[in-house]
Amino acid sequence: MTSPLPPLRIGHGYDLHRLEPPPPAGAGRPFVLAGVRFEHPVGPVGHSDGDAVYHAVVDALLGALGLPDIGQAFPDTDPKWDGQDSAYFVRRAREAVSARGFAVVNLDVTVICERPKLSPAKDAMIANIADLLGIPRDRVNLKGKTHEKVDAVGEGRAVEVHVVALLSALGA
Ligand code: MG
Repeated sequence: MTSPLPPLRIGHGYDLHRLEPPPPAGAGRPFVLAGVRFEHPVGPVGHSDGDAVYHAVVDALLGALGLPDIGQAFPDTDPKWDGQDSAYFVRRAREAVSARGFAVVNLDVTVICERPKLSPAKDAMIANIADLLGIPRDRVNLKGKTHEKVDAVGEGRAVEVHVVALLSALGA
């Protein structure tokens, strides 16, 4: 029986990482967003490399598929993910999309942090996401926003990311 609904699935991914100085002053890792390294005095605290953009991309894709989220798929209690390059998680999510007969239509990414300024790195971040997903770069949008100096994100103590992803069934 065919469904009368369009063969589309939408997913939302969200991630937040606390930002700290590198050891010994804190537990911050090098500041990486969408695979781009930023020179910044603080970086994300995380079990993997702490790439909040890649983590939110993964959760948007897994969410669209109705699958368990990144924390369930790759638990931070498992030592094998310590320091893991998060591009690996994006590749795995891409495989899950294909395996279930879907293709990524587009992604809209919003990164919220007070500093560093993302604009010089935006094109590189978009290229990394698009290349990992095997889609044209014009199907990935990325916006950088500040948190107007309020709350933890606005005080530079955290970075926050939202991603919306649309999938379409292949051959539909
Ligand atoms: Mg994360």
